[in-house]
Amino acid sequence: MAPTNSPVARNVSLGERLLFEKSAPGKRGMELPPLDVPSVDVAHALGAENARDGVDGFPEVSEIEVIRHFTRLSTWNYAIDLGMYPLGSCTMKYNPRVNEFVARLEGLATEHPLQPAELSQGCLRILRTLELFLLEVTGMDAITLQPCAGAQGEYAGIAMIRAYLASRGNPRKKVLVPDSAHGTNPATAVTAGYEVRNIRSDSTGRIDIGHLAECVDEDVAALMVTNPNTLGIFERDIAEAAELLHARGALLYMDGANMNALAGVARPGDFGVDVMHMNLHKTFSTPHGGGGPGAGPVAVEKRLEPFLPTPVLVEKPDGRLGWDRNRPKSIGRLRAFYGNFGVLVRALAYALAYGPGMVEATRDAVLNANYIRKKLEGVYDLPYEQPCMHEVVFSDARQKKHGVNTMDIAKRLIDYGFHPYTTAFPLIVPGALMIEPTESESREELDRFVEAMRSIAAEAAENPELVKSAPHSARIGRLDEVGAARKPVLRWKPQ
Ligand SMILES: *Cc1c(COP(=O)(O)O)cnc(C)c1O
Repeated sequence: MAPTNSPVARNVSLGERLLFEKSAPGKRGMELPPLDVPSVDVAHALGAENARDGVDGFPEVSEIEVIRHFTRLSTWNYAIDLGMYPLGSCTMKYNPRVNEFVARLEGLATEHPLQPAELSQGCLRILRTLELFLLEVTGMDAITLQPCAGAQGEYAGIAMIRAYLASRGNPRKKVLVPDSAHGTNPATAVTAGYEVRNIRSDSTGRIDIGHLAECVDEDVAALMVTNPNTLGIFERDIAEAAELLHARGALLYMDGANMNALAGVARPGDFGVDVMHMNLHKTFSTPHGGGGPGAGPVAVEKRLEPFLPTPVLVEKPDGRLGWDRNRPKSIGRLRAFYGNFGVLVRALAYALAYGPGMVEATRDAVLNANYIRKKLEGVYDLPYEQPCMHEVVFSDARQKKHGVNTMDIAKRLIDYGFHPYTTAFPLIVPGALMIEPTESESREELDRFVEAMRSIAAEAAENPELVKSAPHSARIGRLDEVGAARKPVLRWKPQ
C-alpha cells in the first residue's frame, strides 16, 4: 500500500497532502479584471515597513484544488452523523436538523451584536425565552447566558460565590471538590483564588458525607459537585450536603454538565443548589467537539443575583427587553457581547421541539446507559454495580490480565466503526471505560455496540496483540501521544 502521504494512494481521501505541498507557482483561485482606476503605491501609502509584496511560502492553488482539499479532509472526521459516539461525559447526542435550520434563518444569522436593543427585540425575546426555560428546568431564580463554555460558566459561578462572600466580609479560603470531579472543577477553584480540598467517595461512588461534614468549616467557600457525578451515579445525599454547607455559611455549586440525566425529572434548585452551570452544547444539542462553539449558562439562587455578569437582560415595565449595565455588585463582563447567540438559538429550538417530551429524552438516556451496563456486566469489570444514570463506567481489570488496557480497547472500537468511549476518567477508577450512549441511539445500534465490545473482550483473551496494535482500519494507526504532548510540532515547515 502506498504510504499515507504519497501523492498516489488507493483512496483519494487517504493520500491527501498539505495545501503547501500542492502549491505550484502562478496558480490562482480567481482572476481580477484589470484595474480601471489609478493604482496606489501601497508602500508609499502605509510606509515601507508596513507593506509587503507577498507572504513567503503562501500556497498557490486553484479553486477546485482548495475545494477538494477541504472536502477530502472533512471525510476524515468521525461524527455523530456517521455513527455512535459514546464519549462519556461529553454527551455526543444527535443534533436535530431543525436546530440548524432555525439558527440559519435570515434575521437571526445576520443580526449584528452591536445593533441597539430597540431594534433587536426579536433576538432578545429568544434569549429571554431560553432563560425562562432554563430557569424552569433547573428550579433556580436568575441566570446569565453569557459564558461560552462549561469551564467559563464554572469560573463565573465561583467568582460570584467569591463576590457574594466578600460582600459579607470574608471570601473564605477553600473550595471542596470530590475525588470523582471533572478536571475543570479544581482548575476553576484555583483560578478563582481558592485552595482545593478533596472529598473522598464512598464505596457506592458517592460523596462520603461523613468526610464532607468533617471538612466543612468557616474557611470553606463552597462545595463543587457534579450531579449525577462522573461515575453516572446520582448524589442522593445532595440535600443533606447542602444543609451541611449552609449551616456553616458555605454554598453549594453544582456542575450541571450532566443535566441530560435530570432535565424534566429533578431540579437542582429543589435540592439546595445555590449556583450551577449547564452545558448547552451537551444537554441541549448543539454540535460540539474540537473546541466549540458552546454555551455555559449559569443559574443562581436569589441572593446571588446582584453578582451576575453584566450586562443583564431585563424586562421593562412596558414589556420590552433591554440590557442593564448598571450593576455595582456584578463580577463584570466575561466576554464580548451576550453569549454565543447561534448556540443559544439552537438550544431554544431543541427545547421547543421537544417540549414536555424532554422527560422522555432524559429517561431514554438513562435507559440506554443501563442497557449497556446490563449487557456488558460480566464481560467488563464494573467497579460500582448499582444502576447508573446517563453513563456507565467499567474498568479494564479483566482485560489487564491479558496485557490489554482501556486505551487498547478504545482504539480497537475504531475498527468496529464506533468512536472510542472516554478512557482513563474518572480518576477514581483505574483503567476506566466511560460510556455514554445518550438517548439518540436505537436498541439496534446499542446491540451492535454491545456486540463489538463483547467481540473485543474475546479478542483480548485470545489474541491480545490484535487489540494492542489497533486500530488496523484507520487512516493512521497509533499516534505517539506522549511524543505529541512533550514535543508538539505545531507548524508545518518546508523541508
Ligand atoms: C464537559 C464538562 C465540563 C466542561 O465543559 P466545557 O464546555 O468543555 O468547558 C465540566 N464538567 C463536566 C462534568 C463536563 O462533562
